[in-house]
Amino acid sequence: MNPLDAILKPKSIAIVGASRREGSIGREILHQLVAFDFHGKLFPVNPKADFIHSIKAFPTVSAIPDPVDLAIIVVPREEVLGAVDDCGKKGVPGLVVITSGFSETGEEGKQLEAQLGERVRQYGMRMIGPNCMGVINTGPAIRMDATFAPTLPLPGRIAFMSQSGALGVAILNIARQLDLGFSYFVSLGNKTNVSGNELLEYWEDDADTDLILMYLESFGNAKRFMQICRRISKRKPLLVVKSGRTEAGARAATSHTGALAARQGLDVATGALLEQCGVIRVNTVEELFDLAMAFSKNPLPRGNRLAILTNAGGPAIMATDAAIAHGLSMAEFSERTRRELRRLLPPEGSIQNPVDMTPQSDRSKYDACARILLEDDGIDMLLVVFVPPMMISTMDIILGLEQFRHKYLKPVVGVIMATEEFFVEFNHQHPNHMALYIFPESAVSALAALERYRMWREKPVGELKRFEVRKGAAEELIQEVRRQGRLQLTVEESLRLIGYYGIPVPQSIPVANQEKLERLANELRYPVVLKAAAPDLVHKMDVGGVLVDLRGPEELLAAAQKMVESVARHRAGSQAADSLGFLVQEYVYGGREVILGMTHDRKYGPVVMFGLGGIYVETVTDVVFRLPPLTDLEAHEMIRQIRGYNLLRGVRGEPPVDLDALAEILQRFSQFADDLPEIAEIEINPLLVFPHRPDFCAVDARVRLCGEPNGDV
Ligand code: ADP
Ligand code: MG
Repeated sequence: MNPLDAILKPKSIAIVGASRREGSIGREILHQLVAFDFHGKLFPVNPKADFIHSIKAFPTVSAIPDPVDLAIIVVPREEVLGAVDDCGKKGVPGLVVITSGFSETGEEGKQLEAQLGERVRQYGMRMIGPNCMGVINTGPAIRMDATFAPTLPLPGRIAFMSQSGALGVAILNIARQLDLGFSYFVSLGNKTNVSGNELLEYWEDDADTDLILMYLESFGNAKRFMQICRRISKRKPLLVVKSGRTEAGARAATSHTGALAARQGLDVATGALLEQCGVIRVNTVEELFDLAMAFSKNPLPRGNRLAILTNAGGPAIMATDAAIAHGLSMAEFSERTRRELRRLLPPEGSIQNPVDMTPQSDRSKYDACARILLEDDGIDMLLVVFVPPMMISTMDIILGLEQFRHKYLKPVVGVIMATEEFFVEFNHQHPNHMALYIFPESAVSALAALERYRMWREKPVGELKRFEVRKGAAEELIQEVRRQGRLQLTVEESLRLIGYYGIPVPQSIPVANQEKLERLANELRYPVVLKAAAPDLVHKMDVGGVLVDLRGPEELLAAAQKMVESVARHRAGSQAADSLGFLVQEYVYGGREVILGMTHDRKYGPVVMFGLGGIYVETVTDVVFRLPPLTDLEAHEMIRQIRGYNLLRGVRGEPPVDLDALAEILQRFSQFADDLPEIAEIEINPLLVFPHRPDFCAVDARVRLCGEPNGDV
């Protein structure tokens, strides 16, 4: 038996703090349990009443003669610990604490919550909440609605967890209007004992749940969340509205990676996390339901080829545009499909996709055309648009399609341009019909999500390679820098460090000053690049600190003089007078520039970035983020996802960059980010990439260590 069964499949429930006063939570929950016909025993607990809501009441939980599986606690905050003790003595295994006023209210509440958590743990109980709005299980053997939401839930196969109680009430209400039924609904509250992760695992094997919806504000243990979702999403779709922002790159200061992460709303880590574990993210609760409807009422498509059947031009064109924007393709009809459509449709109708049947089309036309399209093997999904004309009944059209659509095992959704009242009324009279939308865009985005999910399901799990690297040497270098009391590595040190992880770097010689450069000039192999080296120089190019393609000692020394003057002009105050150090590098000719970055997110740890690089990276902003470790497939995916991907593949007759080599460098970089928690931030910009692997070269890098050893994470 799962310990959460006591909470989600109880045979008997005590309502601690049940009340006679109408409108109070203690009375509404009891009422709701009765109204939904709980399939078990109810025990109101209240020291001041003999009976409540026509049910015999008990002064304490320990006074109840029968065993109690679940206690729902709604007493005032000050009495919660006492109630928990009472339950503990009785041996109640499950608790749902509705009462609020804990960590959500400040320091005092936080302490009380810590005590509550500790007490629950000591008794070996499991608890949902505090500060939640209750739990629902619609299964016929349980029928428990232990919430104070006024709407009774519809039974169904969707499990829902919500971190917001208030939103939970709205969700139950909307779901009912949309004819969406739940297997479970759980309001998580402050997640003091039972976490969202644990619930996910509970639903993973649950035979009554096909689809899992989440409204989340935080992930708790993000790594764990990721592992669990990676697994479950291959079996059941997971849809999430994630609100609240994280802090990746909040300390952006000194790198493009941090700045770009910050600019994209600090939320890149969440986006990366969800994408990498196959969770479908939506932005609004409305979108969540749009998708939930499509998922719960359709099989997955076999491909992305969409057919549209309509009685009016405008909405079909809107749907077509949306489909293209979402990466769906407009199906090409077979010869036979076209012939049959031609036979059925009036001459002014269109037998192209979208199929326009013209406004006088009735139920029999819709039925016949829809069948023809669903029979065509070149069509993976069907969108039916109906703009109700006066003389034709909308209900007729929908009920007609309902007769046969299941037979074809393809997604079919409807766009009915009617009022919201129509839908509420219709859902009430005819439950369990196909997914219906008012607007074409919502319908298409839901279909596109089905297709994206199919692709995720079928996508092979990539391989996580571990490369042989010189980790020990890297750690030693980091310790040496720390011993010198620094957090910032020089460019030369940074390059050396990534070199230990097999990322190709050019020969780089640090030179302390102009005098030493003069002595060295005759021994160099030209052409070279001269760079200004000083800890305060972040973007060297901006201050004239990079001069390339220097072909001999004379050019080099002239460049050095020019650089000293230029840097001095840009530097402020006392630093201006400091003598400037240099880095001499071999000159790497040609190549395309990419950037690899890593920054830390307070919650998720390292986040890696890849994109088009060079000095314009913040202007062009063509980057993607992921959480390490990266599989080979994820590395390739990152490369494909940037807008400039075609530049790497080669345009205008250029040869393509060696993408396998690039993907390997990304994986090595991810191993580096994961291996060395002391690194707060790293940026390689640019890595010069070429058609041939041996030419690859990272010419600039910056590494910064965490403020405190092992801190920052
Ligand atoms: P910063 O980013 O601090 O301005 P970089 O070292 O990245 O300085 O140099 C700026 C640009 O100069 C690079 O984007 C690249 O185009 C070019 N560059 C730098 N080093 C080399 C090199 N060794 N070979 C060829 N080009 C280089
Ligand atoms: Mg650079």
